[in-house]
Amino acid sequence: MRHGEEERVSWDFQTEPEFEAKLAWMRQFMREEVWPLEVVVGEFQREPFIRLLGSLQAEVKRRGLWATHLPPELGGQGMGQVRLALMHEVEGSSMWGPIVFGNNAPDTGNSEVLAHFGTTAQKLRWLQPLLEGRIRSGFSMTEPENAGSDPTVLSTTARLDGDEWVINGHKWFTTNGLVADLLVVMATTDAGAEPHRRASMFLVSGDSPGVRKVRNVPVLGGEEHWGFGHAELYYDDVRLPRESILGAPGDGFRIAQARLGPGRIHHCMRWLGQSRRAFDIMCERALQREVGGEPLASRQTVQNWIADSAAEMQAARLMTLHAAWVIDTSGVEAARKEISLIKYFGARVLHDVIDRAIQVCGGLGYSSDLPLEQMYRAARGARLYDGADEVHRQTVARLVLRDYRTPEGPWPTDHVPSRREAAREKFAAYLVEATANS
Ligand SMILES: Cc1cc2nc3c(=O)[nH]c(=O)nc-3n(C[C@H](O)[C@H](O)[C@H](O)COP(=O)(O)OP(=O)(O)OC[C@H]3O[C@@H](n4cnc5c(N)ncnc54)[C@H](O)[C@@H]3O)c2cc1C
Repeated sequence: MRHGEEERVSWDFQTEPEFEAKLAWMRQFMREEVWPLEVVVGEFQREPFIRLLGSLQAEVKRRGLWATHLPPELGGQGMGQVRLALMHEVEGSSMWGPIVFGNNAPDTGNSEVLAHFGTTAQKLRWLQPLLEGRIRSGFSMTEPENAGSDPTVLSTTARLDGDEWVINGHKWFTTNGLVADLLVVMATTDAGAEPHRRASMFLVSGDSPGVRKVRNVPVLGGEEHWGFGHAELYYDDVRLPRESILGAPGDGFRIAQARLGPGRIHHCMRWLGQSRRAFDIMCERALQREVGGEPLASRQTVQNWIADSAAEMQAARLMTLHAAWVIDTSGVEAARKEISLIKYFGARVLHDVIDRAIQVCGGLGYSSDLPLEQMYRAARGARLYDGADEVHRQTVARLVLRDYRTPEGPWPTDHVPSRREAAREKFAAYLVEATANS
């Protein structure tokens, strides 16, 4: 193929009215019940806050909108990725949304891998309590000593000793690692295997002897509440029963890929929820603030920022929903390019929209009197977690180029002099006539 034309063209943009009604309820619930949490969370003790969250979560469960990320046969709601994506967009307007709706990373990804790759016993022990929101989990892959961008290289090892696995290693950025009841740990089990078969995944109880919880790494994203954060952990001779492995030895990379695909869609839609909020602030302020007797909205630069933001958010939204649709219709593997595209594109849109909103709001935008500064700090992480921008760009370019062949000869196929020669031959008879008539 010369041009990588899009083969999938039929795409239905409609969502059922019944589902639209659910989204409308979610929007109102987020605005009235969840957004207010943001501005008083620092004033709560942990227990009353957990109780308050519990009451909101109970309402979500009552509405049948809790932990909607799994198919029904695996204990979830069977929403499919497109509808899930639309829900994540609403939830993403606040950092508390995914927690209130039982859809927060890394619990969602961990419950997905448990559902897809766990044994019955593993599901009973970990999946059910995760889905019910009774326990927390972490995903422990990235290591300080190795490039997280190349997860085929992991110093953490797991070796069999009789009937037990023994894990040794050092991890960081294990989100919620300090408070996790379950740690899903990637470790090298066969250093001599081909790169993508070297690692395996293990289910480690957070209170296992040998799990040393060092600290939450202080990050740009900011506030840390009651131990939630990005943890640095050591695994010192952590001994696990043989059946604590997820899938087969060597399956770690494959499982990680299955875990991260839909998770990236959810991230992108949550970012759109955030972008939308920043956009709304920008538009309000543009209308409200006067400079030289005119509202900021009358300045072309500000109009450009509003127009560009609207266009970019629309593009990111359609790209993300399209990626979700490809997953729903053709599976995660078929959507690799679409997922990588939206991961880095969505992260940039998120950043740029918040950045423009801050600029329009001036000093107010830079201050904590608006949520923009916190959103901006959190948004920076989006270009790193679940794969740095550059890694996803590389994936996209590789997959795009796979559809092309090196043209024969020294020129691209569209080389005008070569085509002119061929066209002269093709139309020779007419050209003779044209020359004769002239
Ligand atoms: C907020 C946050 C939450 C996270 N949560 C988790 C978690 O729960 N569990 C977990 O295991 N990890 C988590 N991470 C870690 C995250 O997955 C890694 O930071 C990420 O994969 C990058 O790895 P690294 O930090 O080691 O950077 P490196 O791999 O050292 O890369 C550094 C930089 O090198 C460049 N680079 C890398 N590869 C290429 C390439 N192929 N081409 C060009 N340039 C390249 C990129 O600019 C990249 O930013 C989290 C990170 C953040 C910021």
